[in-house]
Amino acid sequence: MFTALRKGFGLTFKTMFRPMVTTEYPDKKREVQPRFHGRHVLNRHPDGLEKCVGCELCAWACPADAIYVEGADNTPEARYSPSERYGIVYQINYLRCIFCGLCIEACPTRALTMSHEYELSADTREELIFTKQQLLAPLPDGASPPPHTDAEVAARNLAYYAGHAAQDPLAHYAPAAGSDDLGPHPEEQGDPATVRLAGGGTEPPSHPKEG
Ligand code: SF4
Ligand code: SF4
Repeated sequence: MFTALRKGFGLTFKTMFRPMVTTEYPDKKREVQPRFHGRHVLNRHPDGLEKCVGCELCAWACPADAIYVEGADNTPEARYSPSERYGIVYQINYLRCIFCGLCIEACPTRALTMSHEYELSADTREELIFTKQQLLAPLPDGASPPPHTDAEVAARNLAYYAGHAAQDPLAHYAPAAGSDDLGPHPEEQGDPATVRLAGGGTEPPSHPKEG
């Protein structure tokens, strides 16, 4: 019996001095890894325009059928994105999402990224279908909410998508004449999608925080 007690207390004392592996959640939150896949964010350009162009590639890439997108045309009087189209309806169903990140890889404009937010619970199923307004990043400082007019957009002298997606009425936003150098991949530049044209400044403008 004495041997059993010695073994039992010995194990207890050994365990007492090990580092804690539990946290007192929700009072204390565990730090997540830098590439943790939390809830999604629909990002904006520095002027407030939306990066999403309503292409639905994220929805097609999703293995869980968790994303629903409807695209619509921008007009000269009402522009939501610098491209031809924008996402008029955007929903992510967090009852289906498995946080694999395939939608992020599929997105051609870096409109969709994942944050570090993991507290996703609700009382009803409907509340876990996030809408575009819930997913959109906050407006950057000094930006106004879309829609913007083409005249306002043109006056800003920005090259959206590094000039790749230039088109009327933004056709003048293109790589320098005579140059087919499209520059580094957007991810290598820090700012994923927007640069200021030569003559309009040398540094890429700041952009909203992307998770
Ligand atoms: S993280 Fe994966 S499962 Fe979730 S919406 Fe994106 S592609 Fe679908
Ligand atoms: S989030 Fe990206 S992939 Fe999805 S519709 Fe918008 S632009 Fe296309």
